[in-house]
Amino acid sequence: MNTTRSDLTAALKNPLFRRIGELGDEMQMPVYVIGGYVRDYILTGAPKKDLDFVVVGDVIPFVEELVRRLGVRQYHIYRNFGTAMLHYRGFILEFVGARKESYARNSRKPRVEPGTLEDDLKRRDFTINTLALGLNQEHFGRLINPFNGLKDLHDRIIRTPLDPDITFSDDPLRMMRAVRFATQLDFDIHPQTLEAVGRNRERLQIVSPERIIDEFNKILLAERPSKGLKLLFETGLLDQFLPELSALQGVEEYEGKTHKDNFFHTLEVVDNIARTDTEGNLWLRWAALLHDIGKPASKRYHPKNGWSFHGHEFLGGKMVPRIFRRLHMPMHRDMKYVQKLVQLSSRPIALTEEHVTDSAVRRLIMDAGDELEDLLLLCEADITTKNPVRKKRYLANLQAVRQKIKEVEERDRIRNFQPPVSGELIMKTFGIPPSKTVGEIKDAIKEAILEGEIRNDFDEAYRYMLRLGKEKGLEIKEK
Ligand code: ATP
Ligand code: MG
Repeated sequence: MNTTRSDLTAALKNPLFRRIGELGDEMQMPVYVIGGYVRDYILTGAPKKDLDFVVVGDVIPFVEELVRRLGVRQYHIYRNFGTAMLHYRGFILEFVGARKESYARNSRKPRVEPGTLEDDLKRRDFTINTLALGLNQEHFGRLINPFNGLKDLHDRIIRTPLDPDITFSDDPLRMMRAVRFATQLDFDIHPQTLEAVGRNRERLQIVSPERIIDEFNKILLAERPSKGLKLLFETGLLDQFLPELSALQGVEEYEGKTHKDNFFHTLEVVDNIARTDTEGNLWLRWAALLHDIGKPASKRYHPKNGWSFHGHEFLGGKMVPRIFRRLHMPMHRDMKYVQKLVQLSSRPIALTEEHVTDSAVRRLIMDAGDELEDLLLLCEADITTKNPVRKKRYLANLQAVRQKIKEVEERDRIRNFQPPVSGELIMKTFGIPPSKTVGEIKDAIKEAILEGEIRNDFDEAYRYMLRLGKEKGLEIKEK
């Protein structure tokens, strides 16, 4: 980690910082770069593309002048909030006037008045985010470190600059941010800060679902999401917005028989997905997170066979839209994708058990469509057994399913299957109106293809249709 003075001036190599500092000098306003940029630079030595600045004084005229000088074309100035956002040469610059905040009990929107740099640093969430670098000539590159954030950065600790109960009660979103930073950076939350999260967990109710999910998604997209998911569970935050997931926790024992803890199993599955899916497919991670969500409601005990969760995929699939709607998440494509994966999550494994037949594989290909590859990834991630012999066997079985899929696909072109004979053609051929009979013929053709009785091509399907029509006593009106 670089912490010497000269290294920190190196953080300001981009001439942009000098120009902003010069403007500060001319307008006689102290200006600092702060937050994530300083934190991540000290941590990794890599400059990031989003920059947060604090200006002590009237920030709006400062930003207006900066926009003019740099010739910035894309920017937003929020006069009411005293903040601004500029897009400049691939950077995103955010400005805020140094401020003092006071909070009302029922809202996370503070009353704001102008303040000193010190006031502004106090209102920030964590000590590691209070580090500021001076940009004016007089203090260019000087590190401002009033809450010893530098030491916490060294020790890899998340801690609030003020009494954590006040910090979290003022803006409960900060509790989600604590877990998010701990997960992204692989830091620990200071014990007193962590206890305060537990105490204030119910305050999360005043935060909008969008903001909660924004932080939660960052946790899911981290390298090892289980770290954050465990923290959310242990502090009771998870219960505030996703109680269905905490309900998976626990092992029940009856007549000496137990089942696995589905919460900790789920965390392993999410971590496994994070390991294979390094691109960061958020919705695949959601699918991993929710793949067993129907288990508590479908849990049964049979004296002979022990614990079972029959139909949990179907139940889980029904829960997905409810969860998405409640959390204001995207209801169309993304929800449907997650729902589909949850519903199909046991299918490939079930295939291996009943021996992989052609028709079962065809059905799977058709039902999974474009999601087939992701479904197989999810199934592989789902294998969390600690028994090495079993693990090897499951993986080999899935490999056999993959091979079979390849063979069947090459032969039958069945993905995103549409029957080769359309309803219109059936109606035209037999001169009948839209009716149940049309649907029956169409389904029977589809079944015959899936069962391998006829091939997936037009001629065979057409001949089969004529045969079905005859059986139903229909006359051929048009060939
Ligand atoms: P990253 O950009 O990597 O998420 P960041 O620290 O830059 O990290 P931002 O959300 O961009 O995070 O916020 C910039 C700075 O504003 C933070 O470093 C922190 O000092 C402060 N901040 C942001 N949100 C809050 C909040 N809810 N409460 C207090 N301070 C906050
Ligand atoms: Mg930032």
